Amino acid sequence: LVDRMRPFTSTIFAEMSALAVKHDAINLGQGFPDTDGPASMLAAAVDAINSGDNQYPPGIGIPELRHAVAEHEREQYGIDLDPDTQVLVTVGATEAISGALLGLVEPGREVVMIEPYYDAYAACIALAGGVRKTVPLVPDGDGFVLDRDALAAAFGPNTAAVLINSPHNPTGTVLGDDDLAEVARLAAEHDVVVITDEVYEHLLFDGRTQHSIATLPGMAERTLRISSAAKTFSCTGWKVGWVTGPAELVAAARAAKQFLSYVGSGPFQPAVAHALRNEMEWVRGNAQQLERKRTVLSDALRSAGFGVHRSEAGYFVCADPRPLGYIDGAAFCRELPEKVGVAAVPVRAFVDDTATWGHLVRFAFCKRDEVIAEAAERLRRLG
Ligand code: PMP
Ligand code: GLN
Repeated sequence: LVDRMRPFTSTIFAEMSALAVKHDAINLGQGFPDTDGPASMLAAAVDAINSGDNQYPPGIGIPELRHAVAEHEREQYGIDLDPDTQVLVTVGATEAISGALLGLVEPGREVVMIEPYYDAYAACIALAGGVRKTVPLVPDGDGFVLDRDALAAAFGPNTAAVLINSPHNPTGTVLGDDDLAEVARLAAEHDVVVITDEVYEHLLFDGRTQHSIATLPGMAERTLRISSAAKTFSCTGWKVGWVTGPAELVAAARAAKQFLSYVGSGPFQPAVAHALRNEMEWVRGNAQQLERKRTVLSDALRSAGFGVHRSEAGYFVCADPRPLGYIDGAAFCRELPEKVGVAAVPVRAFVDDTATWGHLVRFAFCKRDEVIAEAAERLRRLG
């Protein structure tokens, strides 16, 4: 194995899911829903298979899905895209991230990104031979904001791109407009590309709405926006994602994508196009359910004795087990499945600075009510 990939031989999700299986634990580690997406979308995929839609689709994605993505961006954000040159369908958001980084970051150049970070960012930057420059989130009440001084200090002559993620995994933070504006200002000042991972764009709580950095003045021409059907339509196994933005930047991601997967899988693409056009009401209902589940699990963690951070969006809530006598989140997560039959993931897997973040633990609440209730019951045994 090459040196630059040595830190990435296994993923925390695989590790903790395996522990969950071994101990027959409720898996609140890996973020995937335990119910299906909209029925009409599932039926559309079956129809596509039955109607012989089973050979290579176009590398950039089927026209129907590229058009549906462009329409979605116009409706949601007022962004105008040419579906032929400014939309690339990818194998999940993961391939959009790896394609963008491989296509845009020269070896040795730096990528500014938020810490904690989704684990694939560090691995994909390493694949590209790039160097990550992390900017920590800092506590703001029971939530988080970007450390502004660290943000400004992270940019320099060697910066190739800034990679942000809002709503944020693992904390569930929605970056504020002032944080987005500051990232935009610095990206323009240093003339670098912005890559924004917005896979949780439709899962915001408590009346919040998604604001994309791509809509800020001067940003459309330097921003790649990434999303995925996985979270919007509860189909993480379908691996249909996309990246949108200026034609030259999309072309860079496309050049890499051609040799990562060549093309994405065929029959899921018309189904996702159908869902984008017809099932946004389902998505809004699902977000309301998730908001409620967020509250139920956060309350349960609090009454089990954890310190609990505010989750504003997405699938996850971060909790502090130190009041229960556990100093280290990773040790806690290794013990939890056997001890009480619940699995979680340590935030340690999403950071470089383990001294600051090592205690925290991430729990997923994208699960059926009865599963969350049973997990809550089990977590109470910790106290
Ligand atoms: N980005 C973030 C922030 C995620 O949480 C995830 C995973 N769920 C992904 C990207 C990957 O998305 P996909 O499953 O579509 O590859
Ligand atoms: N995004 C999901 C999570 O953070 C799943 C990640 C994965 O399995 N690679 O849990």
